[in-house]
Amino acid sequence: MIPRQRHHLEIVGRVQGVGFRPFVHRLAVELRLAGHARNTSSGLVVEIEGGAEACAGFLHRVRREGPPHAEVRDITVTRLAVQGGDDFHLLASSDGTGAGNAEIMPDLAPCSDCLGELFDPANRRHAYPFINCTRCGPRFSIVLALPYDRERTTMRGFVMCPECRGEYEAPGDRRFHAQPNACPQCGPRLEFTDAAGSRLALGGEALEQAARAVESGHIIAVKGVGGFQLIADARSVGTIRTLRARKHRPAKPFALMMPDPGTVRGHCDLSPPEEDLLGSPRSPIVILRRKSGGLPDLIAPGNPTLGVMLPSSPLHHLLMRRLGFPVIATSGNLSGEPLCTDNDEAIQRLRGIADAFLIHDRPIARPVDDSVVRVALGSELVLRGARGYAPLTLPGRYPPVLALGGDQKCALAVSGPFGIRCGQHIGDLGAETAQLSLLNQCRDFPALCGIQPRAVACDPHPGYHGTGLASGMGLPVIPVQHHHAHVAACLAEHDVDEEVLGVVWDGTGYGTDGTIWGGEFLLATRSDFKRIAHLRPFPLPGGERAIREPRYAALGLLYEAGISVAGTPLAAAFTREELAVAHTQIGRGINTPHTSSVGRLFDAVAALLGLRWRNEFEGQAAMEVEFVAGKSPVPLNGYSIPRGEDGSLDWEPVIRSLLDDLGRSIPVSWIAKHFITALSDLVLDVARREEKATVVLGGGCFQNVPLLELTVAGLRAEGFTPLWPRRLPPNDGGLAAGQAVVASARFQDFLP
Ligand code: ZN
Ligand code: ZN
Ligand code: FE
Repeated sequence: MIPRQRHHLEIVGRVQGVGFRPFVHRLAVELRLAGHARNTSSGLVVEIEGGAEACAGFLHRVRREGPPHAEVRDITVTRLAVQGGDDFHLLASSDGTGAGNAEIMPDLAPCSDCLGELFDPANRRHAYPFINCTRCGPRFSIVLALPYDRERTTMRGFVMCPECRGEYEAPGDRRFHAQPNACPQCGPRLEFTDAAGSRLALGGEALEQAARAVESGHIIAVKGVGGFQLIADARSVGTIRTLRARKHRPAKPFALMMPDPGTVRGHCDLSPPEEDLLGSPRSPIVILRRKSGGLPDLIAPGNPTLGVMLPSSPLHHLLMRRLGFPVIATSGNLSGEPLCTDNDEAIQRLRGIADAFLIHDRPIARPVDDSVVRVALGSELVLRGARGYAPLTLPGRYPPVLALGGDQKCALAVSGPFGIRCGQHIGDLGAETAQLSLLNQCRDFPALCGIQPRAVACDPHPGYHGTGLASGMGLPVIPVQHHHAHVAACLAEHDVDEEVLGVVWDGTGYGTDGTIWGGEFLLATRSDFKRIAHLRPFPLPGGERAIREPRYAALGLLYEAGISVAGTPLAAAFTREELAVAHTQIGRGINTPHTSSVGRLFDAVAALLGLRWRNEFEGQAAMEVEFVAGKSPVPLNGYSIPRGEDGSLDWEPVIRSLLDDLGRSIPVSWIAKHFITALSDLVLDVARREEKATVVLGGGCFQNVPLLELTVAGLRAEGFTPLWPRRLPPNDGGLAAGQAVVASARFQDFLP
């Protein structure tokens, strides 16, 4: 008989909710090993016993052959005394409160096997909208606590029928320990109600009636994976107009859901990486270049792009196959409010927007919105991380800190021995409902990560909601400068720990001198930064108003440069009274903050070019500069931005050249391209002086693809290593991760 040995394995990484235990079981059985495996709150513990060769084979293969979404990050192996036995068992989870290393999986779109069954009339789950398996289905939106087991998910109220139970318990089955496993006999049920919540139909009939309602031009609220969506016929101008009026959303683009990639190709240009993203299990909204003709412009007025997703759950697959045409699929909320998740709450809050509701009885544990991505430099750039993307873990070892992010595009992060775990997009904290949602998640998310925070990190902006919240938590508060956090987030994402040149360009961030920053060059490490250069500040008459109305940012710019408004195209943007009032405001410094923000510079340029005087939604003017620059045929020599002794980068020559060019009737697209080229040249110029090998690009301005691509290409051509956020959003959605990094580096200084 071969001498036996026994090993204890602690496996850390993404090993729960991905079919990892069934895989471990199959592997052990194949190698004739005895032992057991069990989920713990820190991952998976496995004991194996058998011959040396079989044990070594197991150790080798368990790292490499796991199921598609699993990720083994670390295995600690300890030798144990031989115990004997022949069988390999899967044990119930331990209920211990471990370090919380176990990773929670994001919600994933149905896999090909489940889709096959969904549309197979002979299958017992034919047309069942809650079909799933160990490789797909809801995860983050249903988990209540760790370890991830059915009784700690919102599926705990559904008792499995004998057939489902059989699959769940059979190690060879692809639904073995699939926690949300369900079927028409025992699982959640669809229901269609009228606007007041009165039941009209159940099951398949509910889906049919919902489809008919959409076909006849009604707006229906659909309970999706992580919250309610509003669905409406995207081909109908009248319906879209009604939806815009009811949602108080006059111009901001709506996302679309299309039945299949073929339909997407009919309406948009689709590159191979874009097609991969659309069809990936994460199933995000992908920003695509639209083809002319076809769908109404009102979906995204004046916008050359469309945000498109494919069906992201079995329910959406059924609905979209039945409809066969593109629909608007937008968050079920009033503009500015967070997503509805609860049936009664949705019927209450969406009254007056939705004509009917397609709901079900599987509760949603937390709101998870649709994610938004685009492709830049051939790879993915995440603009909003939520369904399919959250939670996101950046590996590492950190002390336990809760980071609150910013007030715009708020998202939380929690650090701990597992690294930094980033929560889902919450939204802008202007609305009271959004603040409430943040408060809930401040409790929920650390608990879900198994962390008791010992400090809270936040933005030092005195007006931010999160800053007030942090100081009321009874924990040491670690303020982290806004733009430093942007750089640190990128350092953690790329696992870099050295001093870098950070180029952070965004709309608004509170500076250490109390002014608004946003055109920053920092020498930064994970713990500290030094501001080495920045855009020359200019006044924003009326403060917030200048953000909503780029014409005021332009006015501030001209005032600062001593250029008279008369004789520029901006003169037409104001009445005589408005001009007089604004000039008084600037002159006396009344409600006129100064800013070095590149975001505001983009706004001002948009207004000077006559593209947009008033924003209908955040970032609109800057987007239009990007779009119009995209029409310019070739890269041109940029305007130049000289650098003053004090590190101030002077935009004035650019503005003067721009006005000259306008006067000479140079096409606006060329001028816009000049402007963007000047900005990327500026990065190169500073990079050459500072001679840091690594240059980090961050902040919302780098969502601008031409700017990002030009800058990266320029830096690479001169031997620098440019880094930019990809899995984290470059905008304030990535702020919390950076706050957690900096706060961790300074943790000791802040403990009592
Ligand atoms: Zn599946
Ligand atoms: Zn069942
Ligand atoms: Fe920012």
